[in-house]
Amino acid sequence: MAINRDMEALGKVRSAIRDLFEYGNQRAAVIGRENVFDYSLGNPSVAPPQQVTDTMLELLSTREPVSLHGYTSAQGDKAARTALSDDLNRRFGLSSDPDSFYITCGAAASLTITLKALSCPGDEFMVIAPFFPEYRVFIEMTGSRCVVVPPDFDHFQINREAFQAAVNEHTKGVILNSPNNPSGAVFSEETIREVTAFLKEKEAEYRHPIFLISDEPYRELVYDGKQVPFLTKYYEDTIVCYSFSKSLSLPGERIGYIYVSEALADHDDVYAAVAGAGRALGYVCAPSLLQKTIAECVGLTSDLETYRTNRDLLYNALTEYGYSCVYPDGAFYLFFKAPMESSQAFCEKAKEFELLLVPADSFGCPGYVRISYCVSTDMVRRSLPAFKALMDACGK
Ligand code: PLP
Repeated sequence: MAINRDMEALGKVRSAIRDLFEYGNQRAAVIGRENVFDYSLGNPSVAPPQQVTDTMLELLSTREPVSLHGYTSAQGDKAARTALSDDLNRRFGLSSDPDSFYITCGAAASLTITLKALSCPGDEFMVIAPFFPEYRVFIEMTGSRCVVVPPDFDHFQINREAFQAAVNEHTKGVILNSPNNPSGAVFSEETIREVTAFLKEKEAEYRHPIFLISDEPYRELVYDGKQVPFLTKYYEDTIVCYSFSKSLSLPGERIGYIYVSEALADHDDVYAAVAGAGRALGYVCAPSLLQKTIAECVGLTSDLETYRTNRDLLYNALTEYGYSCVYPDGAFYLFFKAPMESSQAFCEKAKEFELLLVPADSFGCPGYVRISYCVSTDMVRRSLPAFKALMDACGK
């Protein structure tokens, strides 16, 4: 039977994270949910702000249902795009235009649409390790090459030498993700200035744009007043891929956007290519009810207090037990070096203590481990002795 073998292979490869999640469900059936310390998935554990629920209820009870649930224009309702633009202008001092926004079904859609819009035969897109593993799938789906820049193990910023060595005349774009999944690191202004200055030089040398694709679903998930530099202010050829999955705890509702910076070379053509890619990929439009909801709720953020508490508990305790952790300024992930050579073997061992941890090999960072701490604080507290026992069992 002739089918697309690449797609078949993709459908058959089970994600390590999903496998772990399934394993957790099986263990929960045997020993009880409360005895499994599942740190596998990045599913927000705090409720959306009450205003999100209230807005949806009000829309459902007061708006005329045919138009409420009808198709919107492909790029999204003008009122919603205006609200998105106003929000960025207010918070980051931009002067963006609603017509530069394209509303999507979340960050995954924002990325696949953007990559499809930009990709030409022979192109390369760079990702910075550690990176969200789906980037490789999204890039290769377009026929382009995924080039991995190895990690900066000292600070989990960007490995300057490796980054500069990887840029070449085939480089079409660079995906940056800050706050980062899986490291929790936030790229500093210094890092951003350095990267963008280098890319500007290379754009001039190669005489074509190198696009920065800023994947920022965790933009608002930062602690202790940490600032996340907004990339359009540093680099003209920037496309922002945003999602409300994490900031408003709405991952299953599928809503986000693409913002094509007005400063970008050939802005109108690139925006048209984004719209064309959304069409070619069959998105039609983002969910209508959610578009109308975010028009009212953009700028709000779920309560971050639980994540901050969990971060502090885990970082402090694990560091005390001897784990070497990256200090997470944002997102809801804690990243640490496995106290064994193989992070896979370590995560297998962790299962003996009912700890479900993700080896970071698929994030381009072998030897490291990711914890998703978007879980209940009660579970975090109860799991700490297991982390200690695990470290003891590793003989450290
Ligand atoms: N990018 C990163 C870095 C992520 O961590 C995720 C989800 O976890 C996504 C994109 C996809 O997010 P969405 O649910 O909005 O598609």
